[in-house]
Amino acid sequence: MMPETPDLDELRRSVAGAVLGPDDAGYDAARRCFNALVDRRPAVIARCAGTGDVAAAFDFARAHGLEVAVRGGGHNPAGHCVLDGGLVIDLSTMRTVEVDAGTRIARAAGGATWLDFDAATQAYGLVTPGGVVGSTGVAGLTFGGGIGHLTAQHGLTCDNLVGAELVTPDGSVVHAGLDGHAELLWALRGGGGNFGVATRLEFRLHALDRVVGGQLAFRGKDVSEALRRFRDIVAGSPSDLSCQAIIGVDEALEPAVIAAPCYSGSEADPAELRALRSAPGLVEDGVRSHGFLDQQLVFDSPYGENRHYWKGHFVRELPDELLDELVARIVALGRPPGGILIESLHGAPKDVDGDAGALGFRQAAFNVSATAIWQDAALDAESIGWARETAAVLEPWSVSGGYANYMQADEPIERVRAAFGDEAFERLRALKRRYDPGNVLRRNQNIPPG
Ligand SMILES: Cc1cc2nc3c(=O)[nH]c(=O)nc-3n(C[C@H](O)[C@H](O)[C@H](O)COP(=O)(O)OP(=O)(O)OC[C@H]3O[C@@H](n4cnc5c(N)ncnc54)[C@H](O)[C@@H]3O)c2cc1C
Repeated sequence: MMPETPDLDELRRSVAGAVLGPDDAGYDAARRCFNALVDRRPAVIARCAGTGDVAAAFDFARAHGLEVAVRGGGHNPAGHCVLDGGLVIDLSTMRTVEVDAGTRIARAAGGATWLDFDAATQAYGLVTPGGVVGSTGVAGLTFGGGIGHLTAQHGLTCDNLVGAELVTPDGSVVHAGLDGHAELLWALRGGGGNFGVATRLEFRLHALDRVVGGQLAFRGKDVSEALRRFRDIVAGSPSDLSCQAIIGVDEALEPAVIAAPCYSGSEADPAELRALRSAPGLVEDGVRSHGFLDQQLVFDSPYGENRHYWKGHFVRELPDELLDELVARIVALGRPPGGILIESLHGAPKDVDGDAGALGFRQAAFNVSATAIWQDAALDAESIGWARETAAVLEPWSVSGGYANYMQADEPIERVRAAFGDEAFERLRALKRRYDPGNVLRRNQNIPPG
């Protein structure tokens, strides 16, 4: 049965935030998500202003038989933040970040982005390891794990999550922390937006203001050698150096590698960084001492302009033959943008007790993702095929399932289960039965209750 056309004025009377329907100005901008491949028309977008609004939006959706999507930063490549015909709980105006410098705790509202978060915490010379693109949502990224420029130093973002306030689909407000609903806190560390809408997240902070970082660009026939150097350096690197790499092609369709180190130690000229900066094929060295806010600008990505399809694997190692194959795959794609992202998981993620959170990829060496990016709809099939085939090349070295934060909506449940492992997946299902037994929150990498 199709849901009735809801009376939006009824919702407007019960929430403090704006309510947008298809006829309202701003509707098209509000339904746009990061991935231009996703073009959906919700019946209503509720721009929530607080916990009361979120509960009212859940009530309204239930009363009118509307499916629900939750929007933070709108970055999820699967486009889970928007849906056809349903109700979007949009947190994009709930962006406040409060910093308690004394206890080194930050409290971020449910729709805060990393730009909001870093700007607030850096005012005190403090930081939590977050994402590398400022417009990504803090909550969405954290609930999937969180890999970035400070992963080696301070762990995954979710390792630094110490509490959260959630509105569950029945309208209850729950605080998850070590002193109550601790099992829910465990689930939020990797288990996604399955259990409620977070209106506040609390993070542990660390002292940091300046880092040595930026981009190193490598081109031409030596890029395979540069990749080997990157792999060997990060594998043996101390935890004061995080580093990611992207393999792509330049305008001349030559293979190109960008490495983005982030060093936070005290040495003036650390050996690992020196070795990386002298790798073969270097054409541009943009590494310098700068503020952490500048490091957070090293990668940028236009919002809503490009079509995206990402697929990857956590791998236990990156042998030479695999690196060579990845370079060959990017050359075969033969057009920028898009590439293969390699994120190292060395350092602090390995020091955390594996039972502190639900995620199951902590022991992997690298997260490797084929990120197809294009604009012309005529290239949809080719681009999606390329990402899938490139991910298949990685499969023999795969550990755990894929990275929930990068998964498309077409990933089968077996892959979501594999991302956690059987035991953690069943534990997550038990929590889903407790906090969202009706699976209202299913527009995500879903943990079904039954
Ligand atoms: C350009 C780009 C850069 C990225 N960089 C990184 C990176 O550096 N590191 C990394 O680990 N990941 C990164 N990601 C992946 C990103 O972390 C995930 O896609 C994440 O889901 C995005 O969260 P969001 O709030 O921006 O997205 P949305 O699409 O708004 O939300 C995604 C899902 O998160 C859940 N969610 C969001 N907010 C809440 C909330 N307040 N309460 C409950 N559930 C919520 C919902 O299930 C929602 O469907 C990047 C993605 C993109 C497109």
